[in-house]
Amino acid sequence: MSDHIVLTSHPRGKAGPSSPVSWGAATAAERGPLVAASLSQPALRNAIGTHSGSYSVYRALAVAAGHLQRDHKPDLTDTAPVVTLGPHPQWADPHKIISLDPWGHRVAEYFAEQIAAGLDVRPTIAITKAHINMPELVAAIAAGRLKPDGDILEANGDVRVTKAAIEPVWYLPGVAERFGIKESALRRALFEQTGGMFPELVTRPDLKVFLPPIGGMTLYFFGDVEKLGKPETKVACRLHDECNGSDVFGSDICTCRPYLAHGIEVCIEMAQQGGVGLVVYNRKEGRALGEVTKFLVYNARKRQVGGDRAETYFERTECVAGVQDMRFQELMPDVFHWLGITRIDRWASMSNMKHGALAAQGIEVVERVAIPDALIPADARVEMDAKKAAGYFTEKVPDAAELVVAKGRGLHE
Ligand SMILES: [Zn+2]
Repeated sequence: MSDHIVLTSHPRGKAGPSSPVSWGAATAAERGPLVAASLSQPALRNAIGTHSGSYSVYRALAVAAGHLQRDHKPDLTDTAPVVTLGPHPQWADPHKIISLDPWGHRVAEYFAEQIAAGLDVRPTIAITKAHINMPELVAAIAAGRLKPDGDILEANGDVRVTKAAIEPVWYLPGVAERFGIKESALRRALFEQTGGMFPELVTRPDLKVFLPPIGGMTLYFFGDVEKLGKPETKVACRLHDECNGSDVFGSDICTCRPYLAHGIEVCIEMAQQGGVGLVVYNRKEGRALGEVTKFLVYNARKRQVGGDRAETYFERTECVAGVQDMRFQELMPDVFHWLGITRIDRWASMSNMKHGALAAQGIEVVERVAIPDALIPADARVEMDAKKAAGYFTEKVPDAAELVVAKGRGLHE
């Protein structure tokens, strides 16, 4: 391998990629393999960015430290998905799926020939099976709400799941269209806000696919995944945006983990009734503002004059972050299109933004399932009131008098 550095800041002249991407084509072969791995073969690259999202920086450290060959190619033997998923008609619609690669779980099979010939094509999706067990589910069995069946749910609380990890793959013209902005404006902001990390965003308008350096999502399926995409299959779903403090450590300032556990309960019930349950877990920590911003906001909420109250909940976030939320649910429905889902029978979410994004993509929500009041932790009342007042799904919208009451704990309590 040559030792010179390949700059991506300079266009390569008239020559475009040797295998352009035909996004939204009916088959993987017509769409073509996505090649982002190799800077050393610039003529072969047809995607900007790199695989593994933010973990690419650790890969760089491994190479720099001499632990990893910089041209290492993964051996994909025996890594194929454990279930058949798709193809669904939505895969061939360039307007429906624009933030993941619908063929990303089976590249080793679809592009076997190119890989054998030395092209570095990598999966962006992996699908496996697992058992999960959460204390809330064991408690739900003890309380008689969940009934073990020895198949989906064991008496000890073990749940059999299929799970999928998905890395984001953005088709830039489609993302721009979804937000109603110019592709050039999107490319420029991506270039500038990542400190100029990906010059091809502005120098190579012919490269339409971008692998962004962000977290992806994990799907947990309950029941038979292969029933998805059939109109008669009933689907329950919890769409969950990551909240490490609550999800993993049980912090009580929000409803995240209790709602997640409740959503899993709803999913297990649906699977036991012959449908499919689905948890979509998005790496969008702290409304995609990140955990540092989130903790700053917690302090600002609890130190403000008048105490932590729903009335100023969103304002405190906006003071620190400049916006209330950066999760952009506009891209979220893609995963449902990928799974062939056109109707969600039980939707364990109260978010008006998530619900609106599904509706905008023509995905029907039959029943919205609110978090049971008894599951809302003590310090999370502020968040719940604020969200209900802002349009979250609820039977009772809190009034102005309710919103000024300080319900959050003090900082040192
Ligand atoms: Zn939370």
